[in-house]
Amino acid sequence: MFNFDYSYLSLPEKFYSITKPNVNSCAKVFLLNNQICNKFKLKINKEEELIKLLFSNKKYRKSYAQAYAGHQFGYFTKLGDGRAIILGEHITKDNKRFDIQIKGAGRTQYSRNGDGKATFGSMLKEYLMSEAMHYLNISSSRSLAVIKTGENIYRTSKEEGSILVRIMKSHIRVGTFEYASYFGSSEDLKKITTYSINRLFPEISKSDNHSLTLLELVMQKQIDLVVDWMRVGFIHGVINTDNTSISGESFDYGPCAFMNTYDPETVYSSIDYNGRYAFGNQPKIIKWNILRFAEALLPIIHKNKEKSIQLAQSVINKFDAIWKKKYYGMMLKKIGFKNNHTGLYTLIDELLNLMKKLKLDYTNTFYLLSQNNFNKSQISSNSDFIKWEKKWQDSIKKTNCMKEAKHLMNKYNPVFIPRNYIVDEAIKKAVNGDMTSINKLLEILSNPYQYQDDLKGFMKPPTANFEECFQTYCGT
Ligand code: AMP
Ligand code: MG
Repeated sequence: MFNFDYSYLSLPEKFYSITKPNVNSCAKVFLLNNQICNKFKLKINKEEELIKLLFSNKKYRKSYAQAYAGHQFGYFTKLGDGRAIILGEHITKDNKRFDIQIKGAGRTQYSRNGDGKATFGSMLKEYLMSEAMHYLNISSSRSLAVIKTGENIYRTSKEEGSILVRIMKSHIRVGTFEYASYFGSSEDLKKITTYSINRLFPEISKSDNHSLTLLELVMQKQIDLVVDWMRVGFIHGVINTDNTSISGESFDYGPCAFMNTYDPETVYSSIDYNGRYAFGNQPKIIKWNILRFAEALLPIIHKNKEKSIQLAQSVINKFDAIWKKKYYGMMLKKIGFKNNHTGLYTLIDELLNLMKKLKLDYTNTFYLLSQNNFNKSQISSNSDFIKWEKKWQDSIKKTNCMKEAKHLMNKYNPVFIPRNYIVDEAIKKAVNGDMTSINKLLEILSNPYQYQDDLKGFMKPPTANFEECFQTYCGT
């Protein structure tokens, strides 16, 4: 079963608070991820076994909530797990460490005014989105189960309380370092740095300046992650520094959504009034978050403050060039080029401009380009688009063979994404007791790159009316 360790508790006490889950004995597993049970070799024959395993085993008495801080929409706040508890760190047979966290099991020391609970609908959304991201080959938290607590909780109306069992390589975030830097001593900052390096980046122990190398590696991981988000049209919706993991895993799928028609200004979150976390702003925001990480690390990068700033700046200064190279490299693969030639970048810019002007669906455009042997376009009869397509085909012929180009495109362009209107409807049905649509959706999204004729309906963009009115919520 779980093979728990508690290495996090070796940190000073200000980093956590021992917290017991507060779960009703009538809690029931509603969704169980068999693929994860197999991956982690968790032999759960009966779902009640999971409940027992999670909540009543005395061995797991050391469960804890993590303390952290964070910049939320640009403003600094002291936070901490207000509704999450880490039951333990599961060590796999091949010696890998994963946090097993439950979300929605009641108040913790950091709950502030919250009840520490979560609704069934929002935990189902997190389960579905995290699994979809995993199968899209994007680094993400995973979901083991959704459990109904048997309690009613009160939001805008009465809802069923639920718990999500979440798995991540680690829940250490930029906000954990901000917490150490602003509310702890430089010793505390050194301790969380050394702990993070040992746990997630052991290769850093050979470097001359550990904290500076950590800054650089986390920057690289976050760039890779956001490049992947841009690849599939994912909008996280709330990339505050407390939701930016240093392991480079996407997590906290509250107001997230997938873009339909290409427009960098796309925002769905009901609380993102200024479009801070809009689709096209994500690279700028992740750079901003990495700057906050650099600031938090300043006291330990160098003992001389000026020198420290200079060193951190030298890392941050690399961001734009790395982003550009990785982003265009990925976008070129989406249109079939394996080599990252700067001379081809205009092809990407022109395509995106046309997609915006012609209001084309992001996912379907790339999918259709990979079809039909690159013959006449099914996508648009616009003359500028036809001209672009001709230029693109000529460039492909010059650089790659068609077969190779198609292979790349199929690998980088999903056919099926969790379209907002489909997710919304499946969750509504599940909340009303019918799990058929959510189960079907989970099945489709576990194979998102493979076209299937009978699933064509799931590729359909939303109606203009739906798109205009659709908003997402934090789900707290
Ligand atoms: P999030 O936007 O989900 O990352 O949450 C931001 C902060 O609010 C985190 O510290 C959460 O633990 C906390 N939080 C969110 N919902 C609740 C809740 N219902 N009760 C207590 N804390 C919450
Ligand atoms: Mg969060």
